[in-house]
Amino acid sequence: MASIAPAPAPALPPTDHVPRPWTGPSRAEVLADRQRYLNPAIFALYREPLMIVEGHMQYLWDETGRRYLDLFAGIVTVSCGHCHPRVTRAIQEQAAALVHTTTIYLHPGPPALARRLAEKLPPGLDVTYFVNSGSEANDLAVLLARAWTGHHDVIAVRNAYHGGSTSTMPLTSHHTWKFPQQLNTGVHHAICPDPYRSPFEGTPEAIASRSAADIGELVRYSTPGRIAAFIAEPIQGVGGVTAGAPNYLREAYALARSFGGVCISDEVQTGFGRTGEHYWGFERSGVVPDIVTTAKGIGNGTPLAAVTTRREIAEALTRRTHFNTFGGNPVSMAAGLAVLETIDAEGLMENARVVGGRLRQGLEDLMRRHPIVGDVRGRGLMLGVELVRDRGTREPATAQTLEVLERARDQGLLLGKGGLDGNVLRIKPPLCLTAADADFAVGVLDWVLGKVR
Ligand code: PMP
Repeated sequence: MASIAPAPAPALPPTDHVPRPWTGPSRAEVLADRQRYLNPAIFALYREPLMIVEGHMQYLWDETGRRYLDLFAGIVTVSCGHCHPRVTRAIQEQAAALVHTTTIYLHPGPPALARRLAEKLPPGLDVTYFVNSGSEANDLAVLLARAWTGHHDVIAVRNAYHGGSTSTMPLTSHHTWKFPQQLNTGVHHAICPDPYRSPFEGTPEAIASRSAADIGELVRYSTPGRIAAFIAEPIQGVGGVTAGAPNYLREAYALARSFGGVCISDEVQTGFGRTGEHYWGFERSGVVPDIVTTAKGIGNGTPLAAVTTRREIAEALTRRTHFNTFGGNPVSMAAGLAVLETIDAEGLMENARVVGGRLRQGLEDLMRRHPIVGDVRGRGLMLGVELVRDRGTREPATAQTLEVLERARDQGLLLGKGGLDGNVLRIKPPLCLTAADADFAVGVLDWVLGKVR
């Protein structure tokens, strides 16, 4: 009797890129030194930590020359592609001319990039502070809001991630990221509008309205009645690709403003075309924030972040001295300018829409066939797949999610994970992902989900 051979796992789409032979220290040596000399709080994603030594566009290579499709993009940071030639060239040319002076001297880089950001943002949002990380950007945004309004309290959203510094940790709303040193007081978390795990029932729009109304309750019960700011990610990233219906931000912004607050859009993950239909995440709701924070994708992997606001708000910081040593660094500016140019020149936002749409369709198809998939959500190339042990109870399938990550890696596919319970697959690749890559990813996931119990 002929036996049926199990279906083989899909193969990675071809590439012309040939990685350099690895001549550096072995993986075992790197791991031993990392364990011996690096802070013990850093964690590796896989049971057997993966060493990555080269990248090209949407692909990564380990020290053995094995290739992987990268669906996590250095935690949603590599926007144009790993070592994108245009960005690399811009960095190399600037590094050869001038690396650092600070903003005490003139240099064309900072005003040029600030101008490009102003051109991309709605009119009025045209003054930028440059910093180095998303945490710093949100820290500065809240400082600006407090200085400008004269109020102290800030409303954030449950399940948010806004940073890990001692001032942004309180904005972040996951117990897992918090230490008992909440130095930034006056932060309150409103109910998350994500319909999948909402305490409310009804349509996504009704859930969004009821969640937005919670801001009013928080202000009435927990603050002096006036607030400095409302801060939100249009789609929560670390939280597991969660978002409210578009009316959420409209209603939340209106309420926050009625209590004297400014509205901060954390575009660290949703900015620069990742969501496909819009350049900025807030655009889907038809709102205009007062302050926009950016990081990650703006630098394609270089330490670059920004806070953009209206001049009158920006001027609040001229009352005292404010300075950032690396903010506006010429090499970061060159990288940022090349990134913005590349996103437009290569139509990466449109690619995020088209390839992201195809990927999402493939993932929805997997949901129909694998009961472990409880929800598929997100937009463009910012997608999430929530794994549950039971679709009725929605009990998080945390252990199974780790298993999926491990098995996908074995097949050459690198995924991220998120959500409070670590049960959401996060799919946020470089924006140059191709249709063939998307099909490969869905094929591997289909193969893997069929094996995980
Ligand atoms: N905001 C959001 C939405 C983020 O996802 C992150 C990082 N995951 C941050 C802020 C903080 O950025 P950084 O790690 O650069 O400080």
